[in-house]
Amino acid sequence: MDWKIWTFNTPIVLVSAALMEPFAWFVHHHVMHGFGWGWHASHHRGQHASSALFERNDLYAVVFAAVAIVLIAVGTYTYDPLRWVGYGMTSYGLIYFVVHDGMVHQRWPFTWVPRRGYLKTLYQAHRLHHASAHQVNTVSLGFLYASPANRLKQQFQADQKNQGVK
Ligand SMILES: [Zn+2]
Ligand SMILES: [Zn+2]
Repeated sequence: MDWKIWTFNTPIVLVSAALMEPFAWFVHHHVMHGFGWGWHASHHRGQHASSALFERNDLYAVVFAAVAIVLIAVGTYTYDPLRWVGYGMTSYGLIYFVVHDGMVHQRWPFTWVPRRGYLKTLYQAHRLHHASAHQVNTVSLGFLYASPANRLKQQFQADQKNQGVK
C-alpha cells in the first residue's frame, strides 16, 4: 500500500478516536442521562447482573456501530476520509468495549480489577458513576478519561444533594 495513504489517514483515525471521548461524554450527559434515560436506566439498575445477556442500554452501542458502518460505507463510495473517521469511531468502540463492558462491568467470563495506575483510576471513577442509580448524575461521564478523585467526590456529593431536594 502507498505510504501516502497511511500518512494522511492514520492521523484521521487517531484524531477521530480521540474526539469520540468528548463526544461520548456529551451523549452520556445530555442524551443518556437526559431524554434517553429510558434506555440508559437499565445500565444503572444493574439489570446486566441478571442472567440476561443484554440490557436495553446496549441499544446505544448498536446506534454508534450503525453510524460507524454508514460512515465507512459512504466513505468507500464517495468521500474517502469519511471511511477513516468510521475506523476511528470503531477503534474507540473497541477500546470502550474492553474497558467499560469488560474491565469495569465484567461482562466477560473472568474478573480482572486493575490494582494501580491509570486503569485503576478509570475503574474507580466509573464505579462512582454507578454509585447512583438516578438520572441526575454528573460524576465521571467520560469513559476513557477520568477527572481527579477529589473532583469526582465533590460532584458525587453535589448530586446527592440535588437528588435529596427532588
Ligand atoms: Zn450513566
Ligand atoms: Zn457503566
